[in-house]
Amino acid sequence: MLKVALIAHDKKKLDLAMFVKEWKEVFEKCELFATRTTGKIIEEKIGLKVNKLKSGPYGGDLQIGALIVNGEIDFVVFLRDPLTAQPHEPDVSALLRVCDVHNIPLATNLSTAEGLVLEIKRKLEGG
Ligand code: PGA
Repeated sequence: MLKVALIAHDKKKLDLAMFVKEWKEVFEKCELFATRTTGKIIEEKIGLKVNKLKSGPYGGDLQIGALIVNGEIDFVVFLRDPLTAQPHEPDVSALLRVCDVHNIPLATNLSTAEGLVLEIKRKLEGG
């Protein structure tokens, strides 16, 4: 099963929820991981099961980073808020860095997330 990590900063959570809803038929075939608040929204609003880690500011980004290091995540959608300073900016940078270190596909905005989900769909269809 493809493993997908989903994270959104507060001002991007609605965008992520709408995106996951739009592509529900793809995401329901994946094992989902998310930081706590993001995961709760996806479970409650979209009805998908999510492995919830700690909230981002409490180390959740680093937990997802550790999963990536262990080879346990195939794709990451991380809708960052580029206009608001985050108290856990070092953790955000660390997560982006391990994606690059381990060559994990990472989308940080909706346009690339769309491309990424099409790739997930292609893989699920055996392409
Ligand atoms: P959250 O964490 O899903 O718990 O809000 C995301 C983040 O801020 O990195």
